[in-house]
Amino acid sequence: MSHDDCIFCKIIDGEIPSAKVYEDEKVYAFLDISQVTKGHTLVIPKTHTKNIYETPPEVAQELFARIPKIANAIKDVYQPQGMNLLNNNEKAADQSVFHLHLHLIPRYGKDDGYAINWTTHVDDYSQEDLQQIAKEIGERVQA
Ligand code: 5GP
Ligand code: ZN
Repeated sequence: MSHDDCIFCKIIDGEIPSAKVYEDEKVYAFLDISQVTKGHTLVIPKTHTKNIYETPPEVAQELFARIPKIANAIKDVYQPQGMNLLNNNEKAADQSVFHLHLHLIPRYGKDDGYAINWTTHVDDYSQEDLQQIAKEIGERVQA
């Protein structure tokens, strides 16, 4: 199912050109037009889904099942020191394209252009606070 006004659906359909890395019946992988680091790849399900909240489990499963082989291809070619997987959901979390996507960002060292520099928050919550938060969330996880 594709959405008329979705640029990633247009990329899957070939209406918008992209630098394709991999494609099969379930997923499409292509270079991010803005390469945070060399080899920065987006992997998307062919089924349009807005973000993680609206993603059926089977679509999530099919998407994530392809990640290791694509990540290993990037690793084999560019031999990065590491790799970050990133998924932004909703505007407040920096989602700018509303078709689920996973960023694969190979890492070449601390000054490679990637930056999410959170500092430690280890003293923000007590062990009791953590137990309470875990309980509140855990009770809402659907069976
Ligand atoms: P988000 O901010 O939603 O997590 O990531 C969206 C990503 O899509 C951005 O990193 C942006 O550079 C990339 N992007 C937006 N439009 C296009 C496009 O037309 N082609 C490609 N290849 N990437 C795009
Ligand atoms: Zn779409």
